[in-house]
Amino acid sequence: MTDQSEANPKLNRLKAICGEIYDLNTAAALLEWDQQVNMPPAAGQDRAMQIARLNLLAHQIETSTEYGELLEEMTSLRHQMPPESDDFCLLRVLQRNYLRALRIPDEYVEEFSRETGTAFNIWEKARAADDFAMFRPALERIFNLRRQYSEFFAPHDHIYDPLLEDFEPGLKTAEVLRIFAILREEQTALLQEIMAKTPPDSQILAGNFAADKQWLLTKESASLIGFDWKRGRLDKSTHPFTTTINLNDVRITTHIHENNLISALYSTIHECGHAIYEQGIAPELNRSPLGTGASLAIHESQSRLWENIVGRSRDFLTTFYPRIQTAFPETFNTVSLENFYRAINLVCPSLIRTESDEMTYNLHIMLRLELEIEVLEKRIAVSDLPDAWRSKMQNYLGITPNNDVDGVLQDVHWATGAIGYFPTYALGNLISAQIWQTASRDLPDLSQQLRNGNTVALRNWLHEKLYRHGSKFYPSELVQKITGSPIDPKPYLDYLKNKYREIYN
Ligand code: ZN
Repeated sequence: MTDQSEANPKLNRLKAICGEIYDLNTAAALLEWDQQVNMPPAAGQDRAMQIARLNLLAHQIETSTEYGELLEEMTSLRHQMPPESDDFCLLRVLQRNYLRALRIPDEYVEEFSRETGTAFNIWEKARAADDFAMFRPALERIFNLRRQYSEFFAPHDHIYDPLLEDFEPGLKTAEVLRIFAILREEQTALLQEIMAKTPPDSQILAGNFAADKQWLLTKESASLIGFDWKRGRLDKSTHPFTTTINLNDVRITTHIHENNLISALYSTIHECGHAIYEQGIAPELNRSPLGTGASLAIHESQSRLWENIVGRSRDFLTTFYPRIQTAFPETFNTVSLENFYRAINLVCPSLIRTESDEMTYNLHIMLRLELEIEVLEKRIAVSDLPDAWRSKMQNYLGITPNNDVDGVLQDVHWATGAIGYFPTYALGNLISAQIWQTASRDLPDLSQQLRNGNTVALRNWLHEKLYRHGSKFYPSELVQKITGSPIDPKPYLDYLKNKYREIYN
């Protein structure tokens, strides 16, 4: 970090406490990773207690008198520091988090942590049994706890604001609803236009893909994107995810289905996008609250950029598709690059968010955002969710799930208490196109480089503009710094129109 700390033992002490909090939080993250990757099913209850204990200890330090006094004293010195220095940014983030943490009672933190740990296990069983009624009481408790949480921040403009603020610092629900109103109109119109055309033949992707060969290919895709294997690992879990244990230990997971190669490949590239962002954060920010991505939307902009804008492009496939053909010649030797490209960009309204295409993805998010707000505002009950889900799916995508596994039980988010999280996915899509537009302007030979299998220039550009900063800047500041404008749906809508009108003639 900067020189300030050497001259100031109190600032050093403050940073040491931050390190302790970081260690407790990341130890909990490791337990959560283990829960989803290795843990025997009977251990759920005990594991929830362990995670709750670590979260409570971290919360107690963060709300301690010593920490509060140090922070107050150091914050008063902040304005003598250079405004973009690590210390200035650290103190700004710490003060924001401190003022938020002070509003939340210890008992709430413990109860929330315990309830969500238990709910995760119930959700897994309910999902396996396609039994929403089994999950309903736990989900009701979670929505009650989230309503209670919002009230800790009263007065607020919207009950959803304090929940959104946890994932997207500085962003207001009103702004999200304004952006989504534009997306709802333009994306549904574009979807109807595309659905009226003849779709590409996606049957060419059908086959039986041996799990061990898929596993090797997912590793190859991670290497091609630039995943640093010395500072990370890849495992399998039901729901692919990325977690940072520290900047030298960034873990991703994928899932493998023998009848679907595309799912494993693109889930892996997606998680890799998250991981190389974390691995690219400046090493001096490790064990600091700045040593992580700026927000979920910024994070998602990176996973979606690599998964969709790069991963599903003709340029990238020029280098990657021959490797797929080598791994599975029996399926792909007779399939041209062009036909593969069109097939993996098929627009097909799907019941499952994580399997949905670029054209329909944001509509899945809109549905979830609307349901979250309706339940929080008590306009509908938790018991109404399965039916409300079906009717919105029919309205936005023209399809209805026959069961709750493909409907309201599909996502892990609500079971973990992450209400307010979903909009960040759609915002990530929008930001990915804004960032891509800027990168393409700065790197005129980017297209040629990707055709050659060279991802270094793009990664270096992202590292310089985004990765290295960690969470020194708020999301809106970063988008402005990188692209010169605020969050804007237009580049993403333009990207969709150009790409899909060409594929669909
Ligand atoms: Zn993601």
